Amino acid sequence: MHILVLNAGSSSLKWQLIAMPSGEVLTKGLAERIGEPGKGKIHFGDEIFEGSLPSHVEALKKLKDYLNRHSEWEVNAVGHRVVHGGNEFVEPVRITDRVKLKIKSLFGLAPLHNPPNLSGIAAAEKFFPGTPQVAVFDTAFHQSIPQSEHRYAIPEVFYKQGIRQYGFHGISHSYIAKKVAEITGRTSLKIISLHLGNGASATAVADGKSVAHSMGFGPLPGLIMGTRSGDVDPSVLLYWMEQGMTAGEISRVLNKESGLSALAGSNDMREVERLYETGDKNAVLAVEMYVKRIKKYIGAFTALMNGLDVLVFTAGVGEHSMLIRKKVCENSDYTGLFLDEEKNKNPERFKGIIHAERSRVQIMVIPTDEEREIASQTYDVLTKTG
Ligand code: AMP
Repeated sequence: MHILVLNAGSSSLKWQLIAMPSGEVLTKGLAERIGEPGKGKIHFGDEIFEGSLPSHVEALKKLKDYLNRHSEWEVNAVGHRVVHGGNEFVEPVRITDRVKLKIKSLFGLAPLHNPPNLSGIAAAEKFFPGTPQVAVFDTAFHQSIPQSEHRYAIPEVFYKQGIRQYGFHGISHSYIAKKVAEITGRTSLKIISLHLGNGASATAVADGKSVAHSMGFGPLPGLIMGTRSGDVDPSVLLYWMEQGMTAGEISRVLNKESGLSALAGSNDMREVERLYETGDKNAVLAVEMYVKRIKKYIGAFTALMNGLDVLVFTAGVGEHSMLIRKKVCENSDYTGLFLDEEKNKNPERFKGIIHAERSRVQIMVIPTDEEREIASQTYDVLTKTG
């Protein structure tokens, strides 16, 4: 089965055509700057289109024309990444009118993500009529987090309105949990998955299920990220409001002007590391804060799970930063974490397994593959329900 995986952002559309169950990527590409007159760009494999892409519809039409020129790339199903599934979606679902209405009803909870996700669905229905479409939600994996963990200690009326932790990066954390099971041959494990990319989050996974997570109602809390603050005392927001800052201004500061960018002047860990090596004080502080925040979550999640079997590093920083992995695992003998410095320098040579022999916890570097996970979940939905 050839599954077209679509990830529609506000001004972009990424895709991969994946053969399942083998997972072979047949073709992939990206449309950028959708909605900017004259500035649109699409990469189809080696081909490039430049011109206007008024909406996701035009981008998808061009993709459809491209696929039509390659008869071997027939599309049998479409899997869509949808960021917010609210309380409703605990697993991927085949898209129906009811599902689309529900995704629309969640626009308020994910104003930047669910509207383009729904535009991608509408465009795909137009160009691939009669082809089964499946929605795979980023929040779904975290629906197993118990109420004692996902609820905020605020009046129940707000909980009933949907104010609770939802969690994000679920497609990536779910992929990691399955990979760990595959590598170890065990599902009964206590895992902490560290997704350290431009956005960053930690998830505690027990017996294959998410039981605690660092993001919340929105994707702001938890770890320090490229431009997002991570945890900040809500009193700061109240203070800012009393000082006259608007919600829009506060959102800009916390989402776009904070994190590594605020601390070290760059949101890119490669640049922060370069500055760190020169002894730049701001970069040294940024790395120290970044690492301490991760350690706090490892400690908290290990306590909640009463132990830890596997610690996984994934996404841009997790997969590539030897320094961050080293510092996160340093002075952690209380948790039984011991990194092998040589293996940490070149995880690929060691199949991503980088702990020292004496480590009580296995430490792994696993490249995340969200597209593959969307394809795999889409395949499961369609082969289970026909
Ligand atoms: P992602 O969101 O998973 O694509 O991760 C993107 C981030 O990974 C970039 O902004 C960088 O901060 C980080 N990154 C990528 N490559 C490296 C590297 N070699 N060393 C350190 N950080 C890296």
